[in-house]
Amino acid sequence: MPRFDEAFKEEVRAKNDIVEVISAYVRLERKGNRYVGLCPFHSEKTPSFHVVPDGQFYHCFGCKASGDVFTFLMQREHLTFYEALVELAKRAGIPLPQEPRSPEEERAYKERRDMYAALELAARFYHHQLFSEAGKEGLSYLLRRGLTEETIRRFRLGWAVGRGTLYRALRGRFAPEILQRVGLILPRTDGSGYTDVFFERVMFPITDLSGRVIGFGGRILSGDGAKYKNTAETPLFSKRRVLFGLDQAKETMRARNQAILVEGYMDVIMPHQAGFTNVVAPLGTALTDEQCRVIRQQAQQVIVAFDADTAGQMATLRGLQKLYDTGCDVRVLQIPDGKDPDEFIRTHGPAAFAALIDRAVPLIEFRIDRVLPRAGEASPEAKARALAAVAQVLADVKDEVLREAYVDQVAERLSGGNPLAKPDLKLAIDRQMNRLLRRGFQHNLPDTRNNRRGPGEPVTAGSERRQAFEMPVTLAEGAHRAERALLCLLLENPGLLGRVEAELGPSPFSDPHHQQIYDAARPLLRGAEPFAGRLITCLLDRLSDPEVKSLLTEMAAKPVLTTDPEKEAADCIEKIRKHRDSRRLEDLENQIRAAASSKQKVDPVIWNEYVALVRKYKLSRS
Ligand SMILES: [Zn+2]
Repeated sequence: MPRFDEAFKEEVRAKNDIVEVISAYVRLERKGNRYVGLCPFHSEKTPSFHVVPDGQFYHCFGCKASGDVFTFLMQREHLTFYEALVELAKRAGIPLPQEPRSPEEERAYKERRDMYAALELAARFYHHQLFSEAGKEGLSYLLRRGLTEETIRRFRLGWAVGRGTLYRALRGRFAPEILQRVGLILPRTDGSGYTDVFFERVMFPITDLSGRVIGFGGRILSGDGAKYKNTAETPLFSKRRVLFGLDQAKETMRARNQAILVEGYMDVIMPHQAGFTNVVAPLGTALTDEQCRVIRQQAQQVIVAFDADTAGQMATLRGLQKLYDTGCDVRVLQIPDGKDPDEFIRTHGPAAFAALIDRAVPLIEFRIDRVLPRAGEASPEAKARALAAVAQVLADVKDEVLREAYVDQVAERLSGGNPLAKPDLKLAIDRQMNRLLRRGFQHNLPDTRNNRRGPGEPVTAGSERRQAFEMPVTLAEGAHRAERALLCLLLENPGLLGRVEAELGPSPFSDPHHQQIYDAARPLLRGAEPFAGRLITCLLDRLSDPEVKSLLTEMAAKPVLTTDPEKEAADCIEKIRKHRDSRRLEDLENQIRAAASSKQKVDPVIWNEYVALVRKYKLSRS
């Protein structure tokens, strides 16, 4: 594998026009300074996929897929960066530099290749064993559970005999270190050679997005030991990133723009057999950022079919909220009488399961249901607790219109049919919720590690004086919009940088994503670091978080339309500053109140800053 430098990469990029490359996959139509088509990464009826030749990037306003010509090929063809580079070099007829690999690179390359090969062979070996005399017990278990032979073959299920049989089968092909690194064997405790990790278990191969085996799950049928055992963390296998069944489900997930999330191996396989081929499972129910991202890339609607108990658990809810925050329409499917999907489909059939999918409730409604007291058993205390808890749930809803609709619905339920109580309840929820929103209070699911306030505890009520400074919700939102606009303006008008630096200091942005883009762009905007090609593609290279990258292309695809960028920027700066001041004001008030309640003297520095801010704020309002 030859080594490629930046210059080679830039040459490949320059000779592969993004519009031409993408046109091979998507029918693009010219609209002004860009091309628009149906997104190849999610299913849609009206085009929201934009390709901008000036910036040589693409952005989908539907699923947020974004990037340059390299990432397009990586995402579309499931290639590594290296493979995409080679592909595009070939396409443009650029000869690959024939630089020999260093011994170190050669060793790393071979080791990786061997690790994948060992896992693939292990999967074949286990699969073969299942259909042999040794695997009789495993096979009859799977058939008894209702799987057909075809399904067993499709998922390449297997049987681990254990006691070193796998090791003996593979040791002629691979060094023991390789087999140990991918989690297939372990040294014996007495130091005499190696033994298999999996022993008398039904084996479920776990693959990555492109179908390569990266690890295994094993289910024990009898005897001691945990019911399920997964491959431990290895260089190829990380539980945080894995979704079982993804390789089999990805096509349907994209086509239907829907994913069904379940809890276990059998809960993936049985629905697949019944025709629900968009089902995947995380290993563990608390979704990680990586998993959310992968799911979001394939589908927008996510139906969660977890066990009723686990679905309600805080860790799970936090994971689901994360999924919601990445832009998924998350719905919770409730299976009657505590069954899991596997069992439910076996008992009631696919049609009944399809009906459950249709009746899945939006995540926010599911969370509201959990915190509202049941009709008839609501004491005033319970109602007050519910009010605070519900305000926290609603503060997580990003869409204002939707949020108001929920407030109305909740007030209706809490009023118990009393029309006179409803307006007051609405007001009370609004007030608590707005306070949380103004603070930028996100993810109101209690985090046991660093949360000062419990889930049901009411938010401390503000004093009379404080009410005077109550800002509308829109201040936080307005400031956020202003941050975004200012960043857009900066990327198009580097000359504004000096003003932003002078007026807002080194961290002008409160949204960490905005700040990340700003930090990466600053040396380029200032001209301190020269760069080849275009600002956007250069920035895409410098940013690592895909979410931030997507945000960047979204902004670049939707520039601020203005004839006077200076004035526009000044307005944004003013809004950002106002918001900053209001947060600082609140912070100072808290400090002053804390000092007062512990009968300490207020630090004059704090007091002076407070008074100055109050004056300034009053002046700017009048
Ligand atoms: Zn899309």
